[in-house]
Amino acid sequence: MISEEMNFCRRCGAAFATPDHHVYTCANGHVIYLNASPAVGIVLYNDKGQVLILERAINPGIGRLDVPGGFCDGAERLETALARELEEEVGLTSDQYDTPEFLLSNIDPYEYGGETLPVMAAMFTAHIKGNPEIHAADDAATATFIDLAELDLGKVHFPTVREALEVAKQRAQQK
Ligand SMILES: [Zn+2]
Repeated sequence: MISEEMNFCRRCGAAFATPDHHVYTCANGHVIYLNASPAVGIVLYNDKGQVLILERAINPGIGRLDVPGGFCDGAERLETALARELEEEVGLTSDQYDTPEFLLSNIDPYEYGGETLPVMAAMFTAHIKGNPEIHAADDAATATFIDLAELDLGKVHFPTVREALEVAKQRAQQK
């Protein structure tokens, strides 16, 4: 359940009246839209058809499973955020994998600081070139290639990541 709070206008500091869904209007007529925050994630395959699975090093979902990805910073575009997160979390540079292709998107509730924020997660897929070394860092405690058949989807933290891995699993079974 999303429970994002916005009590005051970011432009003039006046209190907001009751919002019309995600549209907030202050006493001075400023209209502010409270939209979901964009984030990215990637189902990354090696040459054996295994996918790169991370163990989360931070909350929400510390110790649970995830894939490389994270929030777009400021006005960063999806492709740039994805390349940055891959470098930060597992040490992969964009020459080490094919151009990521869009797979699906969905809304994840993200628990942070006593609120539950709406996150719009855009999921991609790509294949790694060759056999580069993977180093887990930043938000990732471990990074391991796993056979999709052996992956316990119940341990995957974010619903949209789980959905992307389910699609990947179905595609692998159809082959
Ligand atoms: Zn205002």
